[in-house]
Amino acid sequence: MKVLAVGCHPDDIEVACAGTLVRYKQLGHDVTVCHVANGNMGHVEIMPPELRTMRIAEAKNAGAIAGIKVRTLDIGDLTVYDGLREQRDLMVDMIRQEQPDVIITHSPDDYMPDHVAVSKLVFDASFTASCVHYETPAFNGDNAQPPAPVVPLFYMDTLAGVGFLPTEYVDISDTIETKIEMLECHISQLKWMRDHDNIDFAEFVRSCARFRGLQSGCQYAEAFTACVAWPKITTKRMLP
Ligand SMILES: [Zn+2]
Repeated sequence: MKVLAVGCHPDDIEVACAGTLVRYKQLGHDVTVCHVANGNMGHVEIMPPELRTMRIAEAKNAGAIAGIKVRTLDIGDLTVYDGLREQRDLMVDMIRQEQPDVIITHSPDDYMPDHVAVSKLVFDASFTASCVHYETPAFNGDNAQPPAPVVPLFYMDTLAGVGFLPTEYVDISDTIETKIEMLECHISQLKWMRDHDNIDFAEFVRSCARFRGLQSGCQYAEAFTACVAWPKITTKRMLP
């Protein structure tokens, strides 16, 4: 199976679903992570161009730990989607190139505008990518990408689980340490949250996974909901 996980910033996937992605890998599935935004605003002192470079590298280091391919749409923070066709086309290209069997992304009710925008972007692009005659500026005519089928879409937990009522859980007790190791590759973010918010982000993420574990009868878990929109619904268990 081919899994595509789309996060907004280059650490969102580690926070919400890396334990699940590592489990997919252990089961022999192919996993690609795509970041929509490059994270260039996620620091007080480091200026955006430098931070962009740092964060793309941090994300690649995190993916390398688990043998996960990492791609980015490289859009600046706080300028994500808002119905922009140009960005939807970039996501259509990404989906057509990856040909996923399942897609994971942010909940439509997450805590900040870029996350919510990515949720909508993925929902819109996943349908658009299936239309045979829809071409994008980068891939058209003889160069056109084959369409991708509409596949099941799962929303990952919100930050700190606020307002999120899970319908599916994945036991990540065996992959929690790898998840945390991947999260710790995002050095710029861990330092920033420690310095400016007095938060130990690794501890924060571990606590959330423990809480979801308590709910679902295991040590650590990640939580999801299925996007209930035709024709993304399936009777098959798509999560590991
Ligand atoms: Zn984020």
